[in-house]
Amino acid sequence: MFEGLQEKLSKAFKSLSGKGKITEKNIKEAIRIVKLSLLEADVNYKVVKEFIDEVKKKALGEEVLRSLTPDQMFIKILKDELIRLMGEKSQLQMIHSPSYIMMVGLQGSGKTTSAAKIANLLKKRGRKPYLVAADTYRPAAIDQLITLGKRIDVPVYYGDKKNPIKIVKGALKEVKDSGYDVVIFDTAGRLHIDEEMMSELVEIKDILNPDEILMVVDAMTGQDAVNSAKTFDERLDVTGFVVTKMDGDARGGVILSIRYVTQKPVKFIGTGEKIEDLEEFYPERIASRILG
Ligand code: GDP
Repeated sequence: MFEGLQEKLSKAFKSLSGKGKITEKNIKEAIRIVKLSLLEADVNYKVVKEFIDEVKKKALGEEVLRSLTPDQMFIKILKDELIRLMGEKSQLQMIHSPSYIMMVGLQGSGKTTSAAKIANLLKKRGRKPYLVAADTYRPAAIDQLITLGKRIDVPVYYGDKKNPIKIVKGALKEVKDSGYDVVIFDTAGRLHIDEEMMSELVEIKDILNPDEILMVVDAMTGQDAVNSAKTFDERLDVTGFVVTKMDGDARGGVILSIRYVTQKPVKFIGTGEKIEDLEEFYPERIASRILG
């Protein structure tokens, strides 16, 4: 999607070389290229418009720095603006002890895997995590979390494996005065958003009053991911996102759109199937990746 953007941009700027200023005429072709690339990468059209307007404003009449060519200068402006739109790096909120992190998202997004990945990361940082398997909808989700828990040596609570509300309440009793300081709850998704799932999640949220509600979205699902992020956020007031499968072809357009539509931060990026394949979200890294 963004492959070769830089190359195309340098072509568009060929006519510019040697001149000291970027003008409207000069950047027309470059803007067209960037616009197309962003739209192809599933960036919401409103975001594209705002982005382009801002880039134009900043680029026009800008003196090209002595050390940069006009295309490098333009790319610097693009990158700075991308970073601004994606927002600051945002930490996990863990105010209470134990803190509760509720994982939500559609089936297949990587929710269960991400729950274990976050537990593993926190453990490495000296926390005492505890996992709760409350995804009673997807067959095998509970056993999957038990297996992952064993691998990273974090206990997994699963109660009767049937009733998510009972499982959540049972887990709360288990962790009381136990010394575990962060409890991560895997909840049930669906292939598509439905009312049954949403009301179950709202009920769990009301019981937990969690420090974090992290919605997991699959970067490969493009605009669908953005639409479901919006719906989940409207119902649950999520605190942040985990964007998975960024090891695939997806270049990050989803991240830009989700931030724009929900105004909530992306906190983690999933970069593979292995338990270590989780990165904190650094806007600079994603901006570089988007620009290729
Ligand atoms: P859930 O239904 O949302 O709980 O989804 P799972 O956690 O079972 O993940 C669905 C599939 O996506 C599994 O095969 C995972 O290994 C895979 N997966 C999860 N996160 C990532 C990621 O960041 N990159 C890749 N390549 N695969 C992932």
